[in-house]
Amino acid sequence: MSDITTVGVLGAGTMGNGIAHVFARSGFAVRLCEVEQRFLDRGLDTIRKNLAREVAKAKITQEEMEAAISRIQGTLDRAALIDCHFVIEAATENFDVKRELFVELDDILPENVILASNTSSISITRLAGQTNRPGNVIGMHFFNPVPVMKLVEIIRGLATSQATFDAVKALSECLGKTPVEVNDAPGFVSNRVLMPLLNEAMFAVMEGVATPEAVDEVFKLGMAHPMGPLTLADFIGLDVCLDIMRVLEDGLGDPKYRPCPLLIRMVDAGWLGRKSGRGFYKYE
Ligand code: NAD
Repeated sequence: MSDITTVGVLGAGTMGNGIAHVFARSGFAVRLCEVEQRFLDRGLDTIRKNLAREVAKAKITQEEMEAAISRIQGTLDRAALIDCHFVIEAATENFDVKRELFVELDDILPENVILASNTSSISITRLAGQTNRPGNVIGMHFFNPVPVMKLVEIIRGLATSQATFDAVKALSECLGKTPVEVNDAPGFVSNRVLMPLLNEAMFAVMEGVATPEAVDEVFKLGMAHPMGPLTLADFIGLDVCLDIMRVLEDGLGDPKYRPCPLLIRMVDAGWLGRKSGRGFYKYE
């Protein structure tokens, strides 16, 4: 682990920019790789804004903010990851997108480099099977917003080696996070339990049982959740929620994981939650 000083992050969306943020804040050099300049610019911009917020709250100094920013190098070229000692992908939650990435990364990176995925639900064993280094493939599942949330779910694929697990556990601790070990199964623990709750809340809205506001109030006031399920779904991204429900449905084969038709319609309409300005709520 101590020889990991440069890390690659693929995807600068909601999670990727947060992951780049925490690695850079912990002193790692970061290569942040995207597919289009506008997505990269948006991710870098978000990192700057979030770091500035930490300065405003006196959590870090202006100098620490500048130092963190200077450690992040944005790129559209995966070959720029060649000198990374550890790579984590936080690209779109789609198996084909991730497979293509894993195949190429496996090709260009030295054999000892660990390839991690921040996937919310896709099988780590299956991703590892696309590579010639299954022992060095692992799930490192951060939570949103990454700079704030303490948990990292570490997912062992069937072939993940103990050395890889130990390295990623140590890396998580080095970022100030608390790792929790889970085995590879659709949705792992977090989304196996959380997503059906959000999906059921959407059914309640679709069937006219209650408004989104009322459903959220029930969970905030009655169950002491900091955020109601529909606010949380908007925050996660409705497209991400739908992708995860489909992985649960396919992987577990039980109709209880059927995505709510209202969720499908909203994603079709481009109402993706907070990131698109509209989901169950409207955002400025
Ligand atoms: P997002 O849509 O905000 O960002 C995904 C980014 O990946 C986009 O900017 C896209 O351009 C980029 N991308 C797509 N293909 C790429 C490629 N080949 N190389 C580099 N970048 C590529 O999605 P997100 O919410 O950040 O989710 C990313 C991953 O993190 C998913 O696997 C998701 O399941 C997981 N995740 C999401 C959350 C959440 O709350 N949103 C929480 C934990 C884990």
